[in-house]
Amino acid sequence: MILNKYIADHIRDIPKSGIREFFDIVAQEKEVISLGVGEPDFDTPWHIREAAIYSLEQGRTHYTSNLGLPELRSAICRYVHKQFGVAYDPRTEVIITVGVSEAIDLALRALLNPGDEVLYHEPCYVSYSPSVVMAHGKPVAIATRAEDNFRLTAEALAAQITERSKVLMLNFPCNPTGATQTRAELEKIARLCIDHDLIVLTDEIYSELTYDGAEHVSIASLPGMRERCVFLHGFSKAFAMTGWRIGYACAPAHLTDAMMKIHQYAILCANTMAQDAAIEALENGARHVESMRREYERRRTFIVQSFNELGLDCFKPLGAFYIFPKIAGTGMTSREFSLGLLEKKKVACVPGPAFGPSGEGFIRCCYATSLDQIKEAMSRIGEFVQEARHK
Ligand code: PLP
Repeated sequence: MILNKYIADHIRDIPKSGIREFFDIVAQEKEVISLGVGEPDFDTPWHIREAAIYSLEQGRTHYTSNLGLPELRSAICRYVHKQFGVAYDPRTEVIITVGVSEAIDLALRALLNPGDEVLYHEPCYVSYSPSVVMAHGKPVAIATRAEDNFRLTAEALAAQITERSKVLMLNFPCNPTGATQTRAELEKIARLCIDHDLIVLTDEIYSELTYDGAEHVSIASLPGMRERCVFLHGFSKAFAMTGWRIGYACAPAHLTDAMMKIHQYAILCANTMAQDAAIEALENGARHVESMRREYERRRTFIVQSFNELGLDCFKPLGAFYIFPKIAGTGMTSREFSLGLLEKKKVACVPGPAFGPSGEGFIRCCYATSLDQIKEAMSRIGEFVQEARHK
């Protein structure tokens, strides 16, 4: 029996995540230092965990409203207004989701007709292109370049817009490059979106994690953009809550309504105790977010300097917790470099092409791990690069 024939064509053709494939290999190795997985090494701050424990103690073990707890939606609207300068109505314009992952899926499924084109800058988060395909859209990647600090330029975007373009996905600070976007650049992109009637999904998941005083601007806050943006955010990164699976989407009521139709049938509601914990995170978590951010900044400074000392070109990221050094000069492909480093020096990083073809020649290292581990990893990477040069 050929079981493959039963799988829907558009799903069969989606490749497995390059990160997962690589980590299946890592899992077979012992005592590896991992700069691979993109999640904080910090546990969730204790007061947030306590809020979840208390939620359970109170017997809050039932469904919430489909949109999510009203108190959480209100807390989100206060937070988004204060941090990003965009006002949403907690009654009709916010939906609590199972991480930003679900929010991306809802937005794409709510917006796309088969064949609609979705533009996104690449290298990018691994789920963007498959999520578009799963929603029957057509992914259109716009390669960003190290020479432009991995920023999306309005010129590069304009060159890819067609009659079928419907959505632009943005993620700044960016996974995997750590790139950010200035206000002036975002203004040019916003102009294009208005002129070409594009809807923007703005994935703000790393927005609290910026460095060197870089200002974070959400495109949703620019004139004329609120009504054409779906603002996606969550708790996984800044609050160190990856395992809680909690995020949200804010959008004008008619868009939220459309996403809600999918969410209420597919998911029903997000986890109740995680929603209680998220309220505590927003109301009392700022101090912890800032102390984790400072620690990431310290590690970033060290890791950038180390790569530069090794003679590997490395764009200095201004956000998120990733660094994307160029390894092309070693004569190895990204995959050869990553596999060789793992095999010979027991350090795991992710080959750049896991984030799209334009990632070839680069690797992604996540510095959300202790400085001691990073120092040891950098010394091993140094040995690996030296040995490769003397071959
Ligand atoms: N968006 C980006 C850019 C990410 O890097 C990630 C996770 O790595 C996600 C979304 C998924 O986040 P969540 O844990 O909230 O589903």
